[in-house]
Amino acid sequence: MKKIIGVIVIIGVLFVGTALAEALPPHTAKIAQGVYSYGNPANGYFSMFMVTKDGVIAIESISSQHAAGMVKAIKEITDQPIRYLLHSHNHWDHASGGKVFREAGATLMAHEEASAWMEANTGPDMVVPDKSWEGNRKDMTLGDTVVELHYLGMNHGLGMTVFLLPKEKIAYIADLVVPNRVMFNIVPDFNIKEWERSLKVIAQMDFDKAVYSHNNNATPLLGGTKQDVNDYLQFMQDLRGAIFAEFKKGTNPMMVPTVVQLPKYKDWAMYKEWLPMNAWRILLDEWMGPFPWRPDKK
Ligand SMILES: [Zn+2]
Repeated sequence: MKKIIGVIVIIGVLFVGTALAEALPPHTAKIAQGVYSYGNPANGYFSMFMVTKDGVIAIESISSQHAAGMVKAIKEITDQPIRYLLHSHNHWDHASGGKVFREAGATLMAHEEASAWMEANTGPDMVVPDKSWEGNRKDMTLGDTVVELHYLGMNHGLGMTVFLLPKEKIAYIADLVVPNRVMFNIVPDFNIKEWERSLKVIAQMDFDKAVYSHNNNATPLLGGTKQDVNDYLQFMQDLRGAIFAEFKKGTNPMMVPTVVQLPKYKDWAMYKEWLPMNAWRILLDEWMGPFPWRPDKK
């Protein structure tokens, strides 16, 4: 009997030990071996970081508060130094808080277009990246981890980068796709046509899972799939289709955004609140031509 109890105790200790080893810091989820997402659903922003045998690469600092929580989470998971912090694009609400990572030892990096904007329009909680990269593609290797940085064009903000871990088949996508939510508010700083073109390129990339900077899935910390990319593209196309259907019916164009409905998406977050603003944005793009736009830098 004593022997049996002893065995049970040992199994119990092993079980608890394993459970403790797997315990993650708050607001952190494991996406794959060495790949984690970090974010508080209450704040609505999600980041990603990769732990390699030669250090950590983090993506998206968001703000000093978010960055501090993320650095703490990283340090609870690994003793490896934080080597890089990569920004997805220029906007204050995504690229702030870099100083926290710099003080933790990381080199801050963004696409040159994002860096130039951040230097000219430094936000109150923002620092200018230490390094920038140019062109459409850069590959980084740290330990056994490869990170592909893809610049797909003037879809949203400046220097918008889509990150791909080709071995793990995981992507990090900021702002271009928000699972289960209509487009953001008045759809600020998005070139609609370039955005749709970029989504088609992303849909061709080789990944199964994605961490989205904003996500209205039931378990946003766990990210989503490539289906979310296709669903978003479909939503944009359906909205344009519904607008043109109203034109065809003879609805006064100025009234179209207030009458247009897309019941298929009625359960998406902010459907009631933002659909009219989304419709205005698509309509204005059709009316005025694509904006914002600038000549491609040669
Ligand atoms: Zn943005």
